[in-house]
Order: sequence, then structure tokens, then C-alpha cells
Amino acid sequence: MAVPLFDTATALEPLRDRLDEALLRVARDGRFVLGPEVHAFEEELAAWLGARHAIGVANGTEAITIALRALGVGPGDEVVVPSFTFWASAEAIPPTGAVPVFCDVDPDTMCVTAETVAAAVTPRTKAIIAVHLFGNVAPIAAIRERTGLPVLEDAAQAAGSTLRDGDGTVARPGTMGDVATFSFYPSKNLGAFGDGGAITTSDDAIAERVRTLRFHGSADKVDYVEIGYNSRLDEVQAAILRVLLPSLESWATHRHRVDARYRAAGLGELVTLPEAAPGSAPAWHLYVVRTEEPDALATGLGARGVGARGYYRTPVHRQPPMAAFQAGGLADLPVTDELARTHVALPISATMTERQIGEVVDGVAAVLAGR
Ligand SMILES: *Cc1c(COP(=O)(O)O)cnc(C)c1O
Repeated sequence: MAVPLFDTATALEPLRDRLDEALLRVARDGRFVLGPEVHAFEEELAAWLGARHAIGVANGTEAITIALRALGVGPGDEVVVPSFTFWASAEAIPPTGAVPVFCDVDPDTMCVTAETVAAAVTPRTKAIIAVHLFGNVAPIAAIRERTGLPVLEDAAQAAGSTLRDGDGTVARPGTMGDVATFSFYPSKNLGAFGDGGAITTSDDAIAERVRTLRFHGSADKVDYVEIGYNSRLDEVQAAILRVLLPSLESWATHRHRVDARYRAAGLGELVTLPEAAPGSAPAWHLYVVRTEEPDALATGLGARGVGARGYYRTPVHRQPPMAAFQAGGLADLPVTDELARTHVALPISATMTERQIGEVVDGVAAVLAGR
């Protein structure tokens, strides 16, 4: 593929020796679960984000379930979640005993807004999951202000994004809500060599409950205070992530610049481009544009060696397993349906070249002209 949809390997090349060394260090040390690497990575991630606590867990899906439990979510509760997101954002709710209630998103940012969330809130709503979709930044402060409810940031796609507020303070996803979750699945902006995740918070009580929940609901494997999980980030993944974390800033900056290069090259005259939330510098995880015949564009690009695909063609609330939670009928989410129908992801990576960007734009122009 001349321009792959994503490329996680090229960025690792300059770090190969240090990655090999990290793998050997863990193998020799012989401590594989909750040892020094996880401890160090948790401190380094928290410091990098500007959060008080980061707690490693097994993956980004369990991170959401555990974070919801730590917010006190349980049977009888509702959790508001967008439907235009990766399935796991909502799949993580039922294991708490709570029910997902789906909300719509903004067509330009593709993220939830205070209004779309508020429209789904009921007296049973216990928490909101705001997804920083594709690396864009959801308006967490506005959602908290409008609803007065705890907000969980699903930051699985937003490692490295930033938000500058009115007085110039820069904040990162992972520090804006009551609690936040990350995935280190290999294709994410900060990807490990297997599954991994983290929960971040600046609330000491939430952090303590998360640490207990990830370890069978126990502090010491002698006394058990609640039904928990076996959900830990392992030492190998933590050691890898420690090598990668110092590069995240420059990778994120490059992802952000690719968007500017696409714009300068005229991509916005061919398809509808994503809009960064006000004040945000998204580290675009996926570069998702809209067009009337997205699958035909993806097929045409594929034939030219350019990777492209739709991700969420059937939105989460329309997937059969979610029907059970919408007994009163499927939620009416017109923007979600429209985005599901028209979106398509174009290539983006931390190492994408000027030439590759040009190939994508030329490819889109040629495929659309030949339609
Ligand atoms: C990847 C992802 C998750 C789940 O992360 P895993 O580590 O794969 O379990 C959750 N939410 C969003 C938005 C994601 O992109």
C-alpha cells in the first residue's frame, strides 16, 4: 500500500534499541504483574497529563467499566453515551449493571455537546461518558456545568490532544472530567505491544477505588471489600509505554499538522473535513471526512494504493445487542445516522510524509472526478 490507512511501525524505528532493551529488562527482572515498570509508567503518565493519578488496567474497555464502578454506577442507573463511537464505549456500561442511554453528536466535531447530552439525561442518569472521538476534544466543562453530573472522558483516541481555554491554560484529555480512560491498543496514538489501558483522575477517592477494583476488589489479596476485576497493565506493556511516552508530544504535533497540510492541499474542496473543537489541537487518531458515497471512495482509493474505510457504518444504538436497552424504541439520533452513512477515514499517522499527503489528496480528487 503506497499510503496505508495507519502506520504505527515507522515511528518506532528510531526507538528499536530502547524497546528491545525494555523487553529484555522485564524478561530478566522476572516481575511481570504490578511491578516497578507499571508503577513508574503510572507516575510518568500522570505527570505528563497533569493528573494526580494514573492507574494501569488491562485494556481501554475494562477501564471504562471500572471507572464507572468507581463513580458509583450500578444496577438501576443510566449512563449517557454517544452512539457514534467505537462499540466499546457503550459495551462497557452493562457490566456495571447500568443501562446505556444513547445521545447524538455535533456534525462538525463528531463529539457530544452539552445540548446532545442534556437531551438524554433523566432522573436516573448517574454519569456521562463523553468520547473524545477521533482525537477531537469533547466539551467536558460545558457538559459538567449543564448537567451537574459526573463525566467520564473516553480518551482512548485522544492521547496527545490539547485544549487551550480562554485564559490560555492548556489542558489534556484525561484531566478534564471526574475520571478518564485510555486504551493502549497497538493502533492507538500511544500503542503498546498488546492490550493495555489506564484510568486517570485527580480525585483521591476515585483513584483508590480504581486500584482496589482492578485487583479483585482487594488491597492485599487477603481481605476483599467488593467484587472487582483482574484487570492490570502488565510489566512488559508498561516498559514499552515508558519508552514511547516521551515521543507522544511530537507524534501528536505531527498528526495535528497533517490536518493543516490536508487543508492547504485542497482536500476540503473535495470532501467535508472534521472541525477541531474551539481551542483544541486534536492529535487526530483517525482522519474522518464525509462524502455522499464513502464506500465507493474507499474502494477507489484502495485500487490506487491508498487506505481508506468507514468505521462506524452501523451506529452503536442500532447494533442488535443494544436493542434490549432501548425497550421504548430506538433512540432518534439524526446526526449520528447521517455521520454513520457518510463518514470515511483517510490515512493519518505520526510519520506521514508530504508526498503521502499529496497522494491522498490526488487520489480523492481522481476517484471523485471519475465517479
Ligand atoms: C479503542 C477504544 C476503546 C477500547 O479500548 P480497548 O483497549 O480496545 O479495549 C474504547 N473507546 C474508544 C473510543 C476506543 O477507540
